[in-house]
Formats: sequence, C-alpha cells, structure tokens
Amino acid sequence: MTTPRARPKRSRPEAKCPLRPDEICNLCQLDVTGPHDCGLVYLVMSDPDQRVEWGERRATAAEARRLG
Ligand code: SF4
Repeated sequence: MTTPRARPKRSRPEAKCPLRPDEICNLCQLDVTGPHDCGLVYLVMSDPDQRVEWGERRATAAEARRLG
C-alpha cells in the first residue's frame, strides 16, 4: 500500500501596501487586518490631492523599477 502524496501547501497571497510601492502590508496601523480596512489608505485615497500625489509617487517608483 502506498501513502497518498501530500499536496503542496498553498500559501496565502500577501497583500501589498497601496501606499508603499513594492512593500507588503505589515499591519503598521492599529487594528487593521490589511489594506482593505486600513484607515490611512482610506484617508489617502479619499483625498483628491493626496491621491494625485500618490499616483505621482507610484509612477516614479514604477519608472525607477523599470530603469533598474
Ligand atoms: S496597515 Fe495600511 S499603511 Fe500600513 S502597511 Fe498595511 S496598508 Fe500600508
């Protein structure tokens, strides 16, 4: 009799912090379980000026990543 093959363990995807490009959410805010209930993310995304700045930073980070 052979033993059934153990299935490879599935890992949970790690949520990235929307405010810090290329970093995973490290739960730096109090009482959060991820970006979906992060108050800081909510504040930034709900403020039009902050959202524009966030977009610019994100584009800069993407450009830096592309250039190496
Ligand atoms: S708790 Fe919020 S600000 Fe902190 S890493 Fe996670 S998503 Fe980013």
